[in-house]
Amino acid sequence: MADSADHPIDFTRVPHPAPVPAEARARAIADPGFGKVFTDHMVTIEWDEDRGWHGATLGPRGPLSLDPACAVLHYAQEIFEGLKAYKLADGTMALFRPEENARRFNRSADRLAMPNLPEEAFVEAIRKIVLADREWFPPVDGGSLYIRPFMIATEAFLGVRPAKQYKFLVILSAAGNYFKSGSPAVSIWVSQDYTRAAPGGTGAAKCGGNYAASLVPHANAVARGHDQVCFLDAAEHRWVEELGGMNLFFVFDDGSLVTPPLTGTILPGITRDSLIQMAREEGLTVREERYAIDQWRADAESGRLTEAFACGTAAVVTPVGKVASHDGEFTIGSGGPGQTTQRLRDRLVAIQRGTADDKHGWVMRLD
Ligand SMILES: *Cc1c(COP(=O)(O)O)cnc(C)c1O
Repeated sequence: MADSADHPIDFTRVPHPAPVPAEARARAIADPGFGKVFTDHMVTIEWDEDRGWHGATLGPRGPLSLDPACAVLHYAQEIFEGLKAYKLADGTMALFRPEENARRFNRSADRLAMPNLPEEAFVEAIRKIVLADREWFPPVDGGSLYIRPFMIATEAFLGVRPAKQYKFLVILSAAGNYFKSGSPAVSIWVSQDYTRAAPGGTGAAKCGGNYAASLVPHANAVARGHDQVCFLDAAEHRWVEELGGMNLFFVFDDGSLVTPPLTGTILPGITRDSLIQMAREEGLTVREERYAIDQWRADAESGRLTEAFACGTAAVVTPVGKVASHDGEFTIGSGGPGQTTQRLRDRLVAIQRGTADDKHGWVMRLD
């Protein structure tokens, strides 16, 4: 297989014929919400068996032209990533641990039988588009540019086998604070009817198919008046795994934390990994071990469990206030954000935004 790992990918810059005028852009980013205001550019890189990765382009964002037989439309050979560009106090654009996203992207690619993209090309593609579209950074508290790298199988072929042509793309979206009023505690519905990922399946890969399968359980949770769905393991329907797009942590009255272990059915979150490291540095004990739904209820009722929170790039850290299932409902702590949750969240946000010491070198400055 041709591979560009040993020589850097050159990007062609295609000038934008008609970028969004400054006034229209200012209106769009004044209250951008999440995932609906897109910037002027996109990155595309092609892959085929003969040439490997080639044709890297930073150009105008626009519709794709795909053959209706292309493999992604039929067999869902698709993976993606999600990360944010932040603006530091001195105006520098910065990323948080992007090389971890690059690595995870390639692990997802391995699971979906797709080619690996050199990590440097992944990060360079992001650097190029963020710098090109930096004027889209929203002037709102907690704002960011949400970065969506993804790869699709583009070969026109209806046989079932890994495709022989792929396209990697990066698009950007101006994002406001995920939750308008800081981060209120969410209410979650524990699904006993649906599971997200089975042993040996694709739970640890960031692929669109996992999300497609989570839409009905999520909609059921919302229809019952909850904010998020929580999935249990597929084999015993007993062990708490994660939410549709966020990892979970449990905080106990002795100050220790528990988070479900990465056994292949849980998405290995970079926020999760960062919080484990930060909590341990604070002197807290963090155990990666299975936690049963019945135990969660018993511990919440006895007061041994004082807090629970979900975490991920989009919403950072979100307190869980209420948990419900067919077996009834229970409240965690006071039902609002707990102290450990709040402290870890504030410290992580401070590192990401460059206002706290970055002793791990997690922040990558782009200019
Ligand atoms: C992306 C994702 C997460 C969070 O990962 P981060 O790297 O922290 O953003 C958690 N669970 C699922 C299912 C995800 O897709």
